[in-house]
Amino acid sequence: MTKIKRDILDLSYEELAAYLKSAGETRFRASQVFEWIYQKQVRSFDEMSNLSSGLRAQLSRQFTMVNNVETRQCLVSTDGTTKFLFTLADGEEIETVLIPTAARVTLCVSTQAGCKFGCRFCASGIGGWKRNLSCAEILSQILYMKKAVGDRRLSHIVFMGVGEPLDNYDNLMMAIRNINSPKGVNIAARRITISTCGLVGKIEKLAREGLQIELAVSLHGANDASRNVLMPANKK
Ligand code: SF4
Repeated sequence: MTKIKRDILDLSYEELAAYLKSAGETRFRASQVFEWIYQKQVRSFDEMSNLSSGLRAQLSRQFTMVNNVETRQCLVSTDGTTKFLFTLADGEEIETVLIPTAARVTLCVSTQAGCKFGCRFCASGIGGWKRNLSCAEILSQILYMKKAVGDRRLSHIVFMGVGEPLDNYDNLMMAIRNINSPKGVNIAARRITISTCGLVGKIEKLAREGLQIELAVSLHGANDASRNVLMPANKK
């Protein structure tokens, strides 16, 4: 039976360190692998030249390291805002938007293919919900853009793309920890914002995570009656 390999982007630093320890390697190797992935942004284990050939071969037997997002279309606005339409490995499509200003470079990231919440003003849910994005697919949007911005640095991440982030809670949290980690993408927690239509139970769970990230709740209505119409999730 063919073994299904995990994408290495689906691992937290601690998980990778634990795996390497079980394989007889030191914890330092996890730092090296993370540096190759998140800072040097190589696309294969073979490029990790400060690892032994044996360890590189072992990593490639155990994990995948693939392109999770392929650009299908790229639209640039007059102010430099750039919208990318990405195709995922199974053919689903998501959007990621780069918003550069003089002071910051913000990336708007998708967390699901489609959306089940049906807010009246939003096109993301028109075709319904398809599936959650994996942690690797969420992180791949960021790593792709990290390269695309060249000399500039991605400074802010907003989860306001396709999908309701808190409806894909576990993968979102894993991705945020790798975005925030100094060994990962290394973006400060206060520069990461989750936007939600208002999933109360998940907001309460998020509050217990001990992360200093920002939360934006889309209101779109000044009272319950108008919000019930515009955002059906409000009825709960
Ligand atoms: S939850 Fe977000 S992505 Fe989903 S329909 Fe509402 S605004 Fe659009």
